[in-house]
Amino acid sequence: MVDFNSGYQLTIDGRAAPTTRTFDAYNPATRAVIAAVPDATREQLDLAVASARRAFGTWSTSSFETRQSALLAIAGVLEKHAEDFMALLTKEQGKPRAGAEWEIVGAAIWCREIAKQKLDNEILEDSPERRVFTRFTPLGVVGGIVPWNFPVLLAIWKIAPALMTGNCIVIKPSPFTPLCTLKLGELCRGLLPPGVLSVVSGGDELGQWMTSHPGLDKIAFTGSTETGKHVMRSAAGSLKRVTLELGGNDPAIVLPDVDPKVVAPQLFWAAFQNNAQFCNSTKRLYVHEDIYDALLSELVAYTKTVKVGDGSQPDTQMGPIQNEPQYRKVIEYFEDSERNHHRFAVGGKIDRNAKGWFIPVTLVDNPPEDSRLVVEEPFGPILPILKWRDEEDVIRRANDTRYGLGASVWGRDLAAVQRIGSRLEAGTVWLNEVHQYSPHQAFGGHKESGMGCENSLHGLMEYTNWQTVTLNKQAMQQTKRDDEAA
Ligand code: NAD
Repeated sequence: MVDFNSGYQLTIDGRAAPTTRTFDAYNPATRAVIAAVPDATREQLDLAVASARRAFGTWSTSSFETRQSALLAIAGVLEKHAEDFMALLTKEQGKPRAGAEWEIVGAAIWCREIAKQKLDNEILEDSPERRVFTRFTPLGVVGGIVPWNFPVLLAIWKIAPALMTGNCIVIKPSPFTPLCTLKLGELCRGLLPPGVLSVVSGGDELGQWMTSHPGLDKIAFTGSTETGKHVMRSAAGSLKRVTLELGGNDPAIVLPDVDPKVVAPQLFWAAFQNNAQFCNSTKRLYVHEDIYDALLSELVAYTKTVKVGDGSQPDTQMGPIQNEPQYRKVIEYFEDSERNHHRFAVGGKIDRNAKGWFIPVTLVDNPPEDSRLVVEEPFGPILPILKWRDEEDVIRRANDTRYGLGASVWGRDLAAVQRIGSRLEAGTVWLNEVHQYSPHQAFGGHKESGMGCENSLHGLMEYTNWQTVTLNKQAMQQTKRDDEAA
């Protein structure tokens, strides 16, 4: 019987690994300390990597069916303990029940679907003279580094493809949301050979030890663009492979022919799902001037219906900001808007004495295009609504960012929607919908939103080396004939 409310420990070499030091985990809705989190030492990371390297010998040669069973077993654990995972996720991350359910159920679905994915050899030539093919071999040991907004799902996005391709993995959750991942590690102890999956928690320093660790062959990283650059610099020391899933500043472009009443709730959740702590949140909403006032007033009206609060309460739709540093960062955007006399169409007043790290949903009415709020990624519930008139101009503005993660276009004129969508610089472009993901759909960022991708066979390939094998069918035959003739 696994107790989800206490006893958080590292998983190294298939066993619990005690630590002498711990740090606190908080419930963001109450600011109360909820757990002592194990703080892994550098030596423990070394042990995890050494164990993974030992396990790699057998795991890398295991059959497709063995790996598939491993992923299905992880899915089973998530499903069997779904209620416990959801409650703990809400407690440590702050997201309400519906969001927790989406994440835990989604993580299990991802395991089940990635378990079906297979990289077959690519036959390039098969003639009487030569057989040439490319096969995909595992890299070795992967270090997975995860942020705090979707701690379980984004860990699975790394664990599942790493294991499926024959790699072993050492996973590090964010220091702000380590608890579910530690429990997942605990529940997997008996299911996988020791060393195939290790879970180590610690601070940012642990992440740095991983990116420079000579025993790791790849870093699969999700987090901010700034940290992603550190990861890449550090990984360069041993030419580790990297996948970087980084920040975004997704534009949504709304055409004049939409019905503001219909589209307002969809756009609201495009921006504020997961309390706007979402790499793919709509972070700049470009609305055609003909419907600007009508849509803004629908958005304001809808915002007033949304219940923000403690995610453990059944009627809560949006939770708090997950951690104190992020809370302070989001407040800076409010202060910057106040200093620059932006108009808050709704929200704007933060109760700093609230029990948790709560920030009201805030819509900012047409701030200048160069305001911090528009240029940067606030990662909190404050959204600039921006007016546009000319199609070329709005496309230019939407693309005028160092980010390129996602984008969306909304309108009844499908030709216009597709025309505009085809010119947006982003890894995912949604047309008349948003946040549709699939294990079979490549996901990643353009520009400074990342490098490489996760999910689909493209994502799976990122956990492999390609190896070209050429077989000359005739050379040895000739030698054999010469030998026989001699
Ligand atoms: P972060 O970059 O601060 O931290 C992410 C992880 O990196 C954490 O586990 C952290 O401990 C670790 N870390 C910190 N410094 C490190 C270093 N120098 N070397 C190695 N590891 C280090 O990000 P965050 O604040 O946890 O997450 C929010 C950011 O993540 C946002 O920018 C968001 O857009 C982005 N994000 C991107 C995606 C995506 O798929 N593109 C998904 C979710 C979040």
